[in-house]
Amino acid sequence: MQVVTSLAGESWEIDQRVKIGIVGGGQLGRMLALAGYPLGLTFTVLDPAADACAGQVTRHLVEGFDNDTALARLAADADVATFEFENVPVAAVRRLADRLPVHPSADALEVLQDRLTEKRLFQALGMPTAPIATVDTRDDLVAAIGSVGYPAVLKTRRMGYDGRGQYRLQGARDITPAWQRLGGSPLLLEGYVDFRRELSLVAARSVSGDTVFYPLTENTHRDGILRTSRVIHDGMLQASAERHAHALMRRLDYVGVLALEMFDKDGVLIANEAAPRVHNSGHWTIEGAVTSQFENHLRAILDWPLGRTDARGYCAMVNLIGVLPDWRELLGLPGVHAHSYGKAPAPGRKLGHVTIVADTESAGDDLLAAVIRLVAN
Ligand code: AMP
Repeated sequence: MQVVTSLAGESWEIDQRVKIGIVGGGQLGRMLALAGYPLGLTFTVLDPAADACAGQVTRHLVEGFDNDTALARLAADADVATFEFENVPVAAVRRLADRLPVHPSADALEVLQDRLTEKRLFQALGMPTAPIATVDTRDDLVAAIGSVGYPAVLKTRRMGYDGRGQYRLQGARDITPAWQRLGGSPLLLEGYVDFRRELSLVAARSVSGDTVFYPLTENTHRDGILRTSRVIHDGMLQASAERHAHALMRRLDYVGVLALEMFDKDGVLIANEAAPRVHNSGHWTIEGAVTSQFENHLRAILDWPLGRTDARGYCAMVNLIGVLPDWRELLGLPGVHAHSYGKAPAPGRKLGHVTIVADTESAGDDLLAAVIRLVAN
């Protein structure tokens, strides 16, 4: 039972009010909260940034992730906890898990935080990956190129996102600049995959082990940042991606939403990365799917029944990066839903997104092209 007090000062008790704690207070936390309010959930986020945008719609503890007092306060204020970005310190998740259920688990997070352990797990589960070699020294880099060949991508094993912490090598002249840029932290050299397109699969697994999958999306990036996602329907690729995601989530005893990013190379899915959280390529599900990825993440961590994941027709998403377009013009396009995250504009910053839902592919593609023209980012 919880006591609720209205602005007029009246108080009453209600049932079924579950408190969710979220480590991280960015737009993903914000959209989790917005999806949870209709279900009667309440939210507290922990984020050191005073202007963290989830804080506009949730209770916000403005403290560091490794501040034990803050973690204790978050735990005291929640029945279940989760996180909304993958670079949260594993130790913080473990400390939180001493006090209350946390999903996904610290163990799953730890494996997926390191590109090496992540890719080795993919390989152990029979998922194709790019050829890989670990690099700790400049000599390792030269040896790794010997085995992987050119072109290749040198990546930091940890803390990379939106294409940060990466250097592409085309030939021997790139070794020195690549080493100067990234040398010093544990690295991974990957063979460059000459893919046809990039795809991702968003999946959810509940505490009881029930699993659902959204339709695949085709994703386009610029400067390492996701620009567009468009739902595709391809039975063979969908089945293959679901097999991979299912195996991965079972092995990790994973709970919550997970996104598997893959390259489509000649109809073969090559696993690149698994994000242990709700994912940008799943934002279309807010209006486009029967149940959004945010709601299904909450249902999964609460061990509630998972909701249907089918798309309501043609669905696509365009990110709003750096600046927001004119809202009136954008909303003048029929079938468009606009989201602003309440963040200050800055170059390369994700400020919002647009979802496009249409009845037919041609109408949807026309609308997608119109939105892309309008947002011009
Ligand atoms: P990541 O941080 O691993 O998700 O990489 C960011 C982007 O870099 C991907 O979405 C791809 O566009 C590109 N990329 C990463 N790894 C490779 C690779 N091994 N081969 C080709 N492109 C890659």
